[in-house]
Amino acid sequence: MPLTHVPAKRSAMAQATLSIDLDAVVANRQALDAVSGAHVETAAVVKADAYGLGAAKVAKALQKSGARTFFVAVAEEGIAVRKSIGPTARIFVFAGHMKGDADILKQFDLIPLLNSTDQILRQRQTLPGHGFGIQLDTGMNRLGIKEADWRQVAASVLDDAPALLMSHLASAEIKDSPANSAQLANFRRMTDGSGVMRSLAASDGIALGPEFHFDMTRPGIGLYGGLQADGLRPVVRLSLPVIQVHRLKPGDAVGYGGVWQASAPARVATLSAGYADGLLRSLGGGNAQVYDGDVTCPVVGRVSMDLLTVDVSHLPHSPEMLEILCPAQGVDKLARAAGTIPYEILTSLGGRYDRRYLGASQ
Ligand SMILES: *Cc1c(COP(=O)(O)O)cnc(C)c1O
Repeated sequence: MPLTHVPAKRSAMAQATLSIDLDAVVANRQALDAVSGAHVETAAVVKADAYGLGAAKVAKALQKSGARTFFVAVAEEGIAVRKSIGPTARIFVFAGHMKGDADILKQFDLIPLLNSTDQILRQRQTLPGHGFGIQLDTGMNRLGIKEADWRQVAASVLDDAPALLMSHLASAEIKDSPANSAQLANFRRMTDGSGVMRSLAASDGIALGPEFHFDMTRPGIGLYGGLQADGLRPVVRLSLPVIQVHRLKPGDAVGYGGVWQASAPARVATLSAGYADGLLRSLGGGNAQVYDGDVTCPVVGRVSMDLLTVDVSHLPHSPEMLEILCPAQGVDKLARAAGTIPYEILTSLGGRYDRRYLGASQ
């Protein structure tokens, strides 16, 4: 039978809904910006599709509110951001200039952060005169030019007028880690007197104090509501519709493996989202809660690919939907329940949600 009518959108209740508050993202950048001095620029890291929230929409909202500099992980990610924000803002690429990147870097006016002498050579050979920055390794041993190599090439590289000298902190979330001051000292030794714009701090680095701010900070997670700090707002809300409610007798088991059993008569709601939607399997086994307003309902049994089961015996009514990300449970709290970090929760959320962008900033 031919399909004669395909509804464009189902009712709000029928589909799991991810709301993304762009005004909150904008406010978070402003709050992070207020922590550093007036001469310090607060850029925006929008890699991994803005931590899963939609790089084109997020970058546009941030640009409207005054952000002038964006960071992506690899050149391909810069395309969507450039198309969204137009020609004026700067877009830096953390992976630098990889083999085959020259055309994209040129066409979309992306600035590679060169992280090895090989990349410096590639840039000079394939994109002479095109803007670049330098990523220095100050102790993380992940990306960046090592100090000994930098000594060899610094003079000639500085002659080519890099747009930025940057490095990344490995342990910024541990305020008193000696690695922070060691990396700071290394960064200073490698860049003092260069006269080039410098950047060291991501979200957690901003809280380490003004000596870590240099000319530009590069927050990511702090923009997206994954950092618990004064003045930062939650950004995402995730509501899951209830498909079915089961009435259980004592001893009835729920889900794969029957790992949870009712100890008394119970009502268990089956929600429409699972590990394929980024609700990680580690949220099962009694580790997580969902919310009916302020009332918590424990996730019971194993998380399935598309489904989550929740004990709602204590609710006076049968809810039509429950929330797993909401004011009472931000991404940091959900991350703790899953035994992971907010970054992994956000970037796992997946493509099946009805995504709704809120706020005047879009
Ligand atoms: C991801 C990343 C950032 C942003 O980090 P947050 O902790 O999300 O603020 C900044 N700089 C580099 C090099 C990164 O890889």
